[in-house]
Amino acid sequence: MLSIVPHLEDLEPALLELERQGLLRHPDRTLLGARADVLLACSNDYLGLGARHVSRETPPEARVGAGASRLIHGTQPEHVWLETALAEWVAQPAALLFSSGYAANVGTLAALCDRNDFIVSDRLNHASLVDGCRLSRANVAIADHGDFAGIADLLAKAPTSRARWVVVESYYSMDGDSPDLPRLRELCDAHDAHLYVDEAHALGVFGPGGAGLCRAQNVVPDVLVGTLGKAVGVAGAFVAGNDAIRRWLWNRARSFVFSTAMSPLVAELLLRQVHATRDASQARSRLRQNVEALRAELLRRGIPLPAANHGPIVPIMVGDADRTLRIAERLLAEQIVVQAIRPPTVPRGTARLRVTVTAQMTQGDIERLAAALASALSAEHPL
Ligand code: PMP
Repeated sequence: MLSIVPHLEDLEPALLELERQGLLRHPDRTLLGARADVLLACSNDYLGLGARHVSRETPPEARVGAGASRLIHGTQPEHVWLETALAEWVAQPAALLFSSGYAANVGTLAALCDRNDFIVSDRLNHASLVDGCRLSRANVAIADHGDFAGIADLLAKAPTSRARWVVVESYYSMDGDSPDLPRLRELCDAHDAHLYVDEAHALGVFGPGGAGLCRAQNVVPDVLVGTLGKAVGVAGAFVAGNDAIRRWLWNRARSFVFSTAMSPLVAELLLRQVHATRDASQARSRLRQNVEALRAELLRRGIPLPAANHGPIVPIMVGDADRTLRIAERLLAEQIVVQAIRPPTVPRGTARLRVTVTAQMTQGDIERLAAALASALSAEHPL
C-alpha cells in the first residue's frame, strides 16, 4: 500500500498504482443511487427516512442560514429545540450539535483529552475517533477489536495519568458487531475511567424508540456521540453528556467553535426526522425481519457470517482487495450496489463486501441480493 504522500506531479502514477492494487475509489459511482432499477445494499439510511420527501409547499419557518458560528451569533431557537430533543432521546442531560460525526469526534476528543491523559481505543474505531485521539496528543493504547480482556489489561497497566478513557463504537460500521457495553461501564468504573461511545450506526436502529444500544442496555456513557446522517436520514451529529461537558465543548471543541452553525432550516428538518425516527417502530421491525431473512438466505447458500455479527450491517469477508472489487463489479453488472471495503478503511487482508440491509427492501430484493452474492462469490471466490 502507498504509505507516503506523492509529489503533486506524481499523483497520476500514484493513482495508477492504487488501481493496480485494487484500492482505487471512483468518485462518480455514487450517482448510481439515483436510479430506480438499482438495488442499493450499501446505504446507511437503514429505516428509509432519508428518502422521505419533504413538502415544498409549506414555507419553512426557520431561517435558511445561521449567519455565523454559534459563538459569534449563530444560535437559533431550532438548534436549542433540536439539542433538547436529542438529549432527551438518548437520556443524557445535554447535547451539542456538530456539522458532522467526523467533526464531533475530532473536536470532542481533542477538547476533552490532552497529553496528560490515557486513551484505550478499539483497533477498528472509525477514522474520526482515531484522528480525535491523535489530535488530543493523549497517550493512546490500541486494544484488539472487541477484546474486553485486552482493554482491562491496558487499563490496569495504564501509566499514572490524569484521566483514563475507553473509546468504542456501540455498533461497528464495517463489522456489524458490538462491545459488551455494561461490562465496559463496570470496568471503567472500577478503573476510574471515562467511557466514550460513538453510536453512529446504532442510533435509530437499536433500543427503545431507536435511542441506541446504550439506552437499550441501560448504560450511561460519559460521552455519547450520535450522527444524524445515517438512520435519522439527513446530516450532522451531536455529542451528549452532562451540561458541563456541553459548555466545555462550546468553549473548546475547535470543530464547533470555528465552524458555521448548522443551518436552522436543517435543524428544523432534523427535529422532524428525530421524531419520525423515534416513531418508526414499524420500520425497525421490518428492518429486523429483513436482516433475519438475508442472514437465513446467505447461510442457506453456504455463505458464512462472522460469529459476532448482528443487525443491518452484514460483512461478507473475502480477504483479497482485488477479488472483493471484482465481486462488487459483478453485482453492479446486475444493478446491485454493494461496497467493496478495502484498506485503508479496514486492515490489510480483511477486505470484505459490506452489505447493508434496509427496512425498504422487499422479500424479493433480499432473495435477489442473496442469489447474486452467492453466484458472484462462487465465480470469484470459491467457498
Ligand atoms: N463515527 C462512525 C462510527 C461512523 O461510522 C461515521 C460515518 N461513517 C462517523 C462517525 C462520521 O459521521 P459523519 O458521516 O456524520 O461525519
